[in-house]
Amino acid sequence: ATPTAILVGSGIGAERGLLIRGGDVLERVHQLDTVVFDKTGTLTTGNLTLTDYLPIFQNSEWDLNSDINVGNRQDACSTIDGVSGNKQDVCSTIDGVSGNKQDACSTIDGASGNRQDACSTIDSKLLQIAAAVERGACHPIAAAILLEAQQQGLPLLAAEDFCTEPGFGVSALVEGRRVFAGNAEWMKEQGVAVATELSGSLQGKTAVYVASGGVLLGVIGLKDTLRQDAKAAVERLRGMGLRVMMLTGDTASAAAATAQQLDLRAADVLAEVRPDGKARAIATLQAQGCKVAVVGDGINDAPALAQADVGIGLHCGTDVAVETAQIVLMRNALMDVVESIELGRATFNKIR
Ligand code: ADP
Ligand code: MG
Repeated sequence: ATPTAILVGSGIGAERGLLIRGGDVLERVHQLDTVVFDKTGTLTTGNLTLTDYLPIFQNSEWDLNSDINVGNRQDACSTIDGVSGNKQDVCSTIDGVSGNKQDACSTIDGASGNRQDACSTIDSKLLQIAAAVERGACHPIAAAILLEAQQQGLPLLAAEDFCTEPGFGVSALVEGRRVFAGNAEWMKEQGVAVATELSGSLQGKTAVYVASGGVLLGVIGLKDTLRQDAKAAVERLRGMGLRVMMLTGDTASAAAATAQQLDLRAADVLAEVRPDGKARAIATLQAQGCKVAVVGDGINDAPALAQADVGIGLHCGTDVAVETAQIVLMRNALMDVVESIELGRATFNKIR
């Protein structure tokens, strides 16, 4: 391609909301044969909703001021209809002024909006503690938990000394106690046992475990939704002869739930991959001769975006991801991945 053709290509890209950085990007786009998508925040909206709320607080110091029978808690609030998958209103509401629990933990039929059955009052303390820790994180999970706590009018607990471990979770001092929130591996690292039946009941969801003082305070289950154009974009890319893959730090079970909606084969799904592992996974594909684009949004995607032959970042993503990418999708539309590749092909095929 002539420099002029490349300039023209980049110009067309800019008009379509594709920020293309560097003269050789479109040529590399033209050579791609594999597109690897991050899951959370890329294939999905990243606007997670709380679906499960399981306070445990067994043998925990946090239990001291609670007026709730510990024995009732584990099964206190099962909030999703496993068959329909309807989201149901989760936790008890708390009067923000008085701090009184309002015994409102009912399940709501997603279709009719009717209350189905009231379950026992549950403690919102778990959500409050989780929100306090997540305040220190910049992650879709953190945003979802903070939003839920805010919507319930829960007062924020004092927290300090935040620490984030990308791909695992977060920790902070909450009311003077060290609290950890994150995945099962993060719990394991803190020496906290996670019962397998807990992860079983959270099949297909993202589980956030909360622990302090070596014991599990509870689990929060979250569910994500696909971006509206995810399926169409994946199909178009396949139609263009590209291999489409998904790479995520989330559990295999949550990954499989998303993969199924996109008709991705198990062989094309890599789950429970840590941020550095994401870059290595891309390097492995490249060593097999693949020309790989990575599409991502998060801090955790930055190493993979840098490793890729073409890094494609969503504009709404974390600064580091946006800075690392060679193509930035200003409209945050996955269809623009298709556009980018078509542009690369058009620019280079014309000149040949
Ligand atoms: P993804 O690859 O899906 O974007 P990440 O690499 O950011 O996911 O995170 C992988 C997993 O680490 C998450 O699914 C979650 O279990 C855990 N995790 C990461 N950040 C947090 C957080 N702030 N709070 C709780 N869990 C977290
Ligand atoms: Mg992500």
